Amino acid sequence: MTMKMPKITSCEATNCSYNKTQQCHAIAITVGGPDACPSCDTYFHDNKKGGVSDMTGGVGACKLEGCTHNSAFECSAPAIKVGLFRNHVDCSTFQAR
Ligand code: SF4
Ligand code: SF4
Repeated sequence: MTMKMPKITSCEATNCSYNKTQQCHAIAITVGGPDACPSCDTYFHDNKKGGVSDMTGGVGACKLEGCTHNSAFECSAPAIKVGLFRNHVDCSTFQAR
């Protein structure tokens, strides 16, 4: 099966170093963990901004097997959104099986 890396269309975590104007610029993020939570495992805060400014981030891997979009620990959704949930950053496209 051919899979394409899903893009992150927006991310609310503006204090993440990879975030500029609600866009993720990490080449590929990892989603998931701990405890079956669809959190962005790549979230990172520093005073400096990083990532690749002319690239939109994608999902490189996802550990959330309990999501309907997950196939063999990869994300098969066409695209995802990332948002703030309680005190952390989650994939808002997560859908429980
Ligand atoms: S998706 Fe993750 S790595 Fe990308 S900007 Fe949001 S919190 Fe940061
Ligand atoms: S949509 Fe589901 S499979 Fe894709 S990154 Fe989010 S939690 Fe993982």
